[in-house]
Amino acid sequence: MKTKKILASVILAFIITSMPGGSISDNTTEKKVENSMKKTVKLNGSEIKDLIITITFDNYLSNKALTTDWGFSCLIKGPEKTILFDTGGDGSVLLSNMEKLGINAKDIDIVVLSHFHGDHYGGLTKFLEKNNDVTVYLPTSYSKDFINSARELGAKVVEVTEPEQICNGVFLTGEMGSDIIEQSMIVNTKNGMVVITGCAHPGIVSIVEKAKSIVDSDVLFVTGGFHLVRKSTSEIKDIITAFKKMGVKYAGPSHCSGDETRRLFSDAYGNNYINVGVGKVISLNELK
Ligand SMILES: [Zn+2]
Ligand SMILES: [Zn+2]
Repeated sequence: MKTKKILASVILAFIITSMPGGSISDNTTEKKVENSMKKTVKLNGSEIKDLIITITFDNYLSNKALTTDWGFSCLIKGPEKTILFDTGGDGSVLLSNMEKLGINAKDIDIVVLSHFHGDHYGGLTKFLEKNNDVTVYLPTSYSKDFINSARELGAKVVEVTEPEQICNGVFLTGEMGSDIIEQSMIVNTKNGMVVITGCAHPGIVSIVEKAKSIVDSDVLFVTGGFHLVRKSTSEIKDIITAFKKMGVKYAGPSHCSGDETRRLFSDAYGNNYINVGVGKVISLNELK
């Protein structure tokens, strides 16, 4: 009888310590459990019904009236907040392109910066001189000097580590990657999610996978820099295969994606390839 009791309490103790978070002293286990729980959290919000993406800065050209330069930036209109994703490398070029596109800097509520490379944050200072009544969401790993100077220019700065919702239906992946840390943006529309990347340093496929783990929806459109300039034709083809497997319906590789990537995506996606460059306007009505 006594032996049975001891055995039962040993088994009970074993069960308790094997349960998630059961062992209070083991920080590593706790952290692992915490991370795996975060992965399963879906942040859906309500679906965006109208969406217009305008490319405000790119090294590829779509509208001859605008100026190309190395970098990326686009404007997201339709969600409850108007969002500028990245600011390109040169504020004068960004502001002049915006002006020609009829975009008023003062209408922008949120600026998202993908990663700490000049061709994505370089336009911020000049932009803030036009409109500092914005919230800037940037990866926590950003330079503290940069964060302080953005605050000194009057912007509210939010440092992002984990996936989060920035306004109804719009999400950030949180920091990804180990070498160059980067975040991407997800807009959950009625037709599926739109994933927007700056340079995609953590890997374009990993980013889309992460987006799918955050928002429970089909992938309607992926655009921005895919960072595939140095990849071989077969590596790019593997990425296109992965895109198809993940159910990505429309693709618009730009900025650092490379000419070969754009050609191969165009061949594979046909009418569902979006030729993205500065001045390109993409509305949700075209993405069905
Ligand atoms: Zn970069
Ligand atoms: Zn870049």
